[in-house]
Amino acid sequence: MNNHSCEAIVITCIDFRFQEYIHKWLEENFQPNTYDRGAFAGAAKNSDTILSQIEVANRLHHIKKAVIINHEDCGAYGPKGHIDHHVRDLQQVKKQISEQFPNLEVATYYLHLDGTFEHIV
Ligand SMILES: [Zn+2]
Repeated sequence: MNNHSCEAIVITCIDFRFQEYIHKWLEENFQPNTYDRGAFAGAAKNSDTILSQIEVANRLHHIKKAVIINHEDCGAYGPKGHIDHHVRDLQQVKKQISEQFPNLEVATYYLHLDGTFEHIV
């Protein structure tokens, strides 16, 4: 591995209310400076954007893992944003990533308003 490589890409929603939880979780789960980050409103809702960012991270930074984090009460999902909808989108984008980038491990999470990360499989 050269020094222009990293472990992972982490994709979240833009929502300011969750950034401290995400920072803390990243500190607990990754070494410093070992992941690319992307933030798009609704996270898993943007599968085309996510796939394009993963393509770049995979090609330039030789990542091994993609992490997608959706969250409770997401404005991008609106009033219909039931957890089932998030789980469906996370599973769908995970499947697309695995098909397009079979070299990558994919982990998806649903982040609750209280800061709890729920691993979605
Ligand atoms: Zn959101």
